[in-house]
Amino acid sequence: MKGTLYIISSPSGAGKSSLLKALFEQHNNDNSMYLSVSHTTRPPRPGEVDHVHYHFVTVDEFKNLIERQAFYEWAQVFDKYYGTSRELVQQALQNGQDVFLDIDWQGARQMRKMEPEAKSIFILPPSLEELRQRLVKRAQDSEEVIANRMNKAQREISHYNEYDYCLINDDFDQTLNDLWSIINANRHTRVIIENNEGKTLENLLAGYDGQDDQS
Ligand code: 5GP
Repeated sequence: MKGTLYIISSPSGAGKSSLLKALFEQHNNDNSMYLSVSHTTRPPRPGEVDHVHYHFVTVDEFKNLIERQAFYEWAQVFDKYYGTSRELVQQALQNGQDVFLDIDWQGARQMRKMEPEAKSIFILPPSLEELRQRLVKRAQDSEEVIANRMNKAQREISHYNEYDYCLINDDFDQTLNDLWSIINANRHTRVIIENNEGKTLENLLAGYDGQDDQS
């Protein structure tokens, strides 16, 4: 039994964190999903909890983890380091959980090379103006800071065409529904059913002699 690896990327302000939070609240009663907690060298924002939102580490600690090959992938996003722990992700996949990585386009590229069966999903804002409004609402920053964030967002958006799925987050509930549809549909693909329900299929064909195969 092996879970599916989902790579989720988006520019900041597109609603990725809220969507993932709601996805887990509504659909993870059976513990079938695992959200990877990354390591980062950036400081915690207000309300962020160490080991819940990120493992917050120093640059030296991060470099040490790179040397020990503890990361599945890592990247420098703007001027901070971010990395995905290899062991926990592999363990969750082996346990049959669907694993979600909230990572940037650079990490997504690395993961696709190592795990070509991973599904990647890009979450987009409905428009640049809407994204701007969301960034302005989020913090009372100066025009310059907002302009800088918009520029970073557009840099991330420019990689949307490397992803399998794109969700335009105009209506939150609709987007959440669409996200769940992707996951649920994948759970019903023949390959996954063969992997996870091999015994059921075997039992259903018990005693059958394959007589229709000649047609
Ligand atoms: P933030 O600092 O706003 O939480 O995240 C900034 C960016 O870093 C986001 O695009 C987020 O997806 C990305 N990110 C978070 N964790 C990882 C990681 O482990 N690897 C990579 N490559 N990117 C990450």
